[in-house]
Amino acid sequence: EEEKSLNFIEEIVAKDLSEGKNDGRVLTRFPPEPNGYLHIGHAKSICLNFSIANRFDGQTNLRFDDTNPVTEDVEYVNSIKQDIQWLGFQWANELYTSDYFDQLYEFAVELIRQGLAYVDDSTAEEIAAGKGTPTEPGVPTPYRDRSVEENLQLFQEMRDGVYPDGAKVLRAKIDLANPNMHLRDPLLYRIKHANHHRTGDKWKIYPMYDFAHGQSDAIEKITHSICTLEFIPHRPLYDWLINKLEIFPSKQYEFSRLNLNYTVMSKRKLLQLVNEGLVESWDDPRMPTISGLRRRGYTPASIRNFCERIGVQKRENMIDVGLLEFCIREDLNKTAWRRMAVIDPIKLVVTNYPEGKEEILVGENNPEVEGGEGSREIPFSRELWIEREDFMEDAPKKFFRLGPGLSVRLKHAYIVECHDFVKDESGKVTEVHVNYLPNSKSGEDTSGLKVKGTIHWVSVPHAKTVEVRLYDRLFQDENPAAAEDFRASINPESLQIVEQAYVEPDLANAELGRGYQFIRMGYYTLDTKSTPEHLVFNRTVTLRDSWAK
Ligand code: ATP
Ligand code: MG
Ligand code: MG
Repeated sequence: EEEKSLNFIEEIVAKDLSEGKNDGRVLTRFPPEPNGYLHIGHAKSICLNFSIANRFDGQTNLRFDDTNPVTEDVEYVNSIKQDIQWLGFQWANELYTSDYFDQLYEFAVELIRQGLAYVDDSTAEEIAAGKGTPTEPGVPTPYRDRSVEENLQLFQEMRDGVYPDGAKVLRAKIDLANPNMHLRDPLLYRIKHANHHRTGDKWKIYPMYDFAHGQSDAIEKITHSICTLEFIPHRPLYDWLINKLEIFPSKQYEFSRLNLNYTVMSKRKLLQLVNEGLVESWDDPRMPTISGLRRRGYTPASIRNFCERIGVQKRENMIDVGLLEFCIREDLNKTAWRRMAVIDPIKLVVTNYPEGKEEILVGENNPEVEGGEGSREIPFSRELWIEREDFMEDAPKKFFRLGPGLSVRLKHAYIVECHDFVKDESGKVTEVHVNYLPNSKSGEDTSGLKVKGTIHWVSVPHAKTVEVRLYDRLFQDENPAAAEDFRASINPESLQIVEQAYVEPDLANAELGRGYQFIRMGYYTLDTKSTPEHLVFNRTVTLRDSWAK
C-alpha cells in the first residue's frame, strides 16, 4: 500500500521521534471552546491532530477550553463530542481546562513568588495605553513594582471575590519594551463573577487564554500543540511561561486555518445567523457546521477526504467550496443507493398498457459495487409521473427525451413512444400519452430498437408524496466575511422547498445517514426531522457542478 507523504507538521513529529524526544511519545490535543458548534474549519484541525496520533502510534486528548463562563454551555460540549465521533475519531481522554483551575491558580502564585507577576488596578484602557505601540515602548503602571507579599494577598483577595469585575487583573511581569506586544506584561487573570457550567460559583477569577492554554498542555504532557497561524506571536509567551514554571515543555506549532469561499466560519457569525433566524438552527443544512453538513447528507469520509486533499500549509489561503462539493459527489457516487424521484411532475399515460395491471420491476441498489448491494422492487403501471422537463412539444433535434413521435427508455422498464399529449385551457401540458413496446423490457429486450435517452419515472398509484428541500450556497459573495455586513450577501434562493414530489415506494424505508442518488436529479438524504407520515429529503448536492461563476 502506498504511504501518503507527510505534511510539514508530521515531518516535525517524525524527526522528534527519530531523535528520541518525549520518550518516543506522541500526544496531541483538540481544544475547542464550548461556545458553539464545530464547523468544517474545526474538522481540519481534528483531522490533523487525530491523524498525527494515528500515524505515529500516539494519542489525542479532547480538551474543552472552558475558561470563559459567560458564553459556554453543555449543549455545545455534547454536540462537539458527537461531531468528533461521527467524523470517525476517538479521543484518549475527555478533559476540561476548568479541572485545572486549582493548579493554574498555584502556577500563578508561583509566578508572583518569583517576582514574575503582579496585580494591576489600572483600567483596561490604562493598561492598553501603557503597552505602547509596536514602535514605542510601553510605560509601567503605578502597580508594577508591588511587593511579592502585597501581590500574593491581593491575588488571593481577587480569588475570594473581594473585588468587582474589572477592578484588578494579574499580569506577567516580562518586558514593556519587547517588540512582541504579547510579551508586554500580558494579562494572566481577570475577575469575573459568573456561573461556570462546570465549576458553578466557585471561581471569581478566570485565567486568560494565554495563561490557561500552554499550562494545560504542560499538565497533560502534550508533545505537539498544534494551533492556527494567528498564534505565532503568542509562542514566545507560551515558551516563557513553561520555562519559568519549569513544567513539561510542550511545543506549539502553527498551520493555516481553513478559509472557504462563499462561507462564513467564525462561531460568532454562525451564532448570529442562528439567533437572528437567518437559518433554522446550528444544524441547518446550509450551515458549514459539522452537524449541518451531516444533516445535508455529507459523509464522514467525504469530510476526511476533503481535509486530506486541502493539506496543511504554513500560509493563509482560500479554498474553493467547490472542492468540498466535489468530495461529497465523489463519495456518494460510490456509496449512494439509486432511487427514482420526480420533483416537477407531469403525468405519462401508457395507453396500450392494460388498465388495472401492475408489475414489479427490479433495480439494484448500487450499480457501482459488485453485487449491487441488493435490490429493490419498483412497481410499474399504466400511469406514471415523469419530470416535466423531459417532455417538449416542439423538441429540438438533439432532444433525446419525449416529444411527439419521440421514443425513450423508461429506466428499468420499457421503451415508450409518444403519440399524443393533453393541454389545459391555459395551454399547459397536463398529460403525455405513449405506447410501450412489450418486448423491450430492460434486461430482456428483444425489440432490437435503440433509443438514445433514458428517463426516470414513478408509478402514480404507488408513488409516495414527499417534501424535498433544494439547497444552494448560503452566500452569494465569494468572501462574505470581508463585507461590512456579512448578512448582506445571503442568497435569497439558498433554500427552495418542493412540498410535493413523488418518489418510488421503497423510499418509505429510507434510512437516516444514507445517501440516495435520485437518478438524474442529484444526491439526497432523509432529513433528521422527517417522519413516516411526512417524509422530507434534503438535496445534498447536484450531480454535476452547476454553479454559475
Ligand atoms: P472560531 O473563530 O470559529 O470561533 P476558534 O478558534 O475560536 O474558532 P476554538 O473552539 O477555540 O474555536 O477552536 C478549537 C480548535 O480548532 C483550535 O485549535 C483552532 O485553532 C481550531 N480551528 C478553529 N477554526 C479553524 C479553522 N477555520 N481552520 C482550522 N482550524 C481551526
Ligand atoms: Mg479559541
Ligand atoms: Mg473564537
